[in-house]
Amino acid sequence: MLFQSIHLQDKICDVRIEGACIAQIGPAGTLSERTGEEVREGGMLTPHFAEPHVHLDATQLGARTPNMSGTLQEGIANWAAVRDTLVADDIQRRARKTIGWYRNWGCTRIRTHVDTGNLTAVEALIDLRDQLKDEVEIQVVAFPQEGLLKAPGQVEQWRAAVSLGCDAVGAIPHFEHDLETGWKTVQMAFELAEEFGLALDFHCDETDDPSIRNLEEVCRQAKRRGNGSQVIAGHCTALHSYPDDVAAQVIADVVEAEIQVVTNPLDNIVLQGRFDGYPKRRGITRVDELWAAGATVGIGHDSVVDPWYRLGTANLVDAAHMLVHAGHLTADADMRRVFRTLCDDNHRCFGGVDPLQEGRVANVLYWPVDDPIEVIRVRPRPEVFQHGVRQH
Ligand SMILES: [Zn+2]
Repeated sequence: MLFQSIHLQDKICDVRIEGACIAQIGPAGTLSERTGEEVREGGMLTPHFAEPHVHLDATQLGARTPNMSGTLQEGIANWAAVRDTLVADDIQRRARKTIGWYRNWGCTRIRTHVDTGNLTAVEALIDLRDQLKDEVEIQVVAFPQEGLLKAPGQVEQWRAAVSLGCDAVGAIPHFEHDLETGWKTVQMAFELAEEFGLALDFHCDETDDPSIRNLEEVCRQAKRRGNGSQVIAGHCTALHSYPDDVAAQVIADVVEAEIQVVTNPLDNIVLQGRFDGYPKRRGITRVDELWAAGATVGIGHDSVVDPWYRLGTANLVDAAHMLVHAGHLTADADMRRVFRTLCDDNHRCFGGVDPLQEGRVANVLYWPVDDPIEVIRVRPRPEVFQHGVRQH
């Protein structure tokens, strides 16, 4: 396969794939076609996408459990009503369908949360992770959807889920009864992660309430333990509503702690602001200010046709498109950075992205357009090459 005059990391190059590898990269016009070789001219090559935040146990249930009020609270209640009835076959069938959608859109690394309230779901997703390991890299986060200290038995379920072989420890401190208990669960999560040698991934401050400040405690714990590079704080929508001086301090903490904030713009633009009259706040964390301060941001899809969000395609460019709009990131440099996040910073929890260099495995996306802004505008389907083989 030969790509001629294609855009690759801000240069125009010729690229040859042979077998499973990127065999040659040269300046445009330097690699000529060999007999029998398939050729693409123009366009752009990028690494695959990575998904840092989705819920594969709940995916494809949106039609069964419509969210009439649109709130996070009803989403959680609707999910709780079906969660305990789910069986492994159904969970894996739905997850496989969504994973297929992800792969079609060029995403081959997926971090999924799983509600530890249903250990059948935990086992089913861990089993699926292992079954599909040659096609897609899946990480499973033990996520206690209804909190840890709100009801008896939740901590035991959470520990049991982690023991089954999860890749990361989750928590949802803003869902606890009060801030003090929220902070306590943040600390418990760090302790459990340390015990099992795992990463951490919080649903952190997914609320419009500016008094909810668990992100500070996540930063404090990460700084104390020096493991911020293993920590994700997802959502962080309360940061949107903090007074600017408080937000600046918390963002400085995020940078110092080296944790990653993952924004989920598709869900949060509709789940948040539901208790506002007009004007209605946007439930999106402060991506522009996080970037300006030097923080690492990821972009998740979060829900694909589930009880929280009835829509969703598993195309991360849709999440990027929403973030560009709701986050006022329409400057050319911002849009390019949003796109780059999908194939760069989104890989952080998987150990970083494999660079597109000679001799590396040819896991690439070929885009028919040559500019990331055009990808966000048009949202074309990329050709997905995995180990040098075109997938569709
Ligand atoms: Zn989530």
